[in-house]
Amino acid sequence: MIKEKAYAKINLGLDVLKRRADGYHEVKMIMQTIGICDNLTFEKSEAPGIHLEIAGADLPADGNNLVCRAATLIMETGKVAEGVHITLQKRIPIAAGMAGGSADAAAALRGLNNLFGLGYSTRELRELGVRLGADIPYCIEGGTMLSEGIGEILTPLPAPPDCHLVVAKPDLDVSTAYVYGNLKADSLPFHPDIDGMAKALARGDLAGITDRMGNVLETVTEKAYPVIAQLKGQMRDLGAENALMSGSGPTVFGICKEKETAEEIAAAIREKEPACAVFVTTFYEGMKGAYGS
Ligand code: ATP
Repeated sequence: MIKEKAYAKINLGLDVLKRRADGYHEVKMIMQTIGICDNLTFEKSEAPGIHLEIAGADLPADGNNLVCRAATLIMETGKVAEGVHITLQKRIPIAAGMAGGSADAAAALRGLNNLFGLGYSTRELRELGVRLGADIPYCIEGGTMLSEGIGEILTPLPAPPDCHLVVAKPDLDVSTAYVYGNLKADSLPFHPDIDGMAKALARGDLAGITDRMGNVLETVTEKAYPVIAQLKGQMRDLGAENALMSGSGPTVFGICKEKETAEEIAAAIREKEPACAVFVTTFYEGMKGAYGS
């Protein structure tokens, strides 16, 4: 049996450069894996086909699930005739801006590559992944990366200095398609300084990173859901270095130098917003070096 962990991500910075003629948006983002994860197992089965069992979430386990779609893709491409039984223990909030589905799909590509000895390299797994979703290539290895194009052009960056995160997911599901569909990509009121943040990462300069946190998708999601601005304000007021919405939202994260500060903020949010799912975690360095390139 193969076990894989599927880690969530946040965006330390997220800029949209333009909307392409094919409808995709060209992005420039700094992605960071965090310590919240789903757990998957993969086992060969007597019965042919792909069998998925899900615990911890009310998600369909049918062919629409990203795990099944990833399994179908890699098993067809790799000409695998055997069957597989997959279990998914879901902990990453769904439709949250944390790439939970993409992380699961990437974990399925890694897990089945191992289980069936297919021998695909990281680059080949990324190429398979981008056919299913723009964040999947990043999720193959995770860590700290600059993500450009539609998400498929990835450049590893130095990890940020150690710190603690408070992560709050309001009780709303936000569709990524809705957010990008309502984004005025040609007239954004600001563009975060992604190049400056990459330089701050290289210097190990936490203030240089937190000062440059910005996400242009807040222009859509924050307007629709005032709780996002409230959570950011609350995190900053209680001592976070800075706070930002992740991806298309509605998850908000705050970066703290001390674990106690992150825990105090988490307790305050649990009291004021009891419907929020709240986590205290850290950055995670990802699975770099696990595969040949
Ligand atoms: P992103 O940050 O990449 O936009 P997200 O966190 O906003 O991702 P996901 O949790 O990845 O959103 O899920 C988006 C949709 O995909 C959900 O509405 C869900 O129905 C569908 N989905 C399919 N498979 C999965 C899966 N394994 N885990 C979570 N969602 C899944």
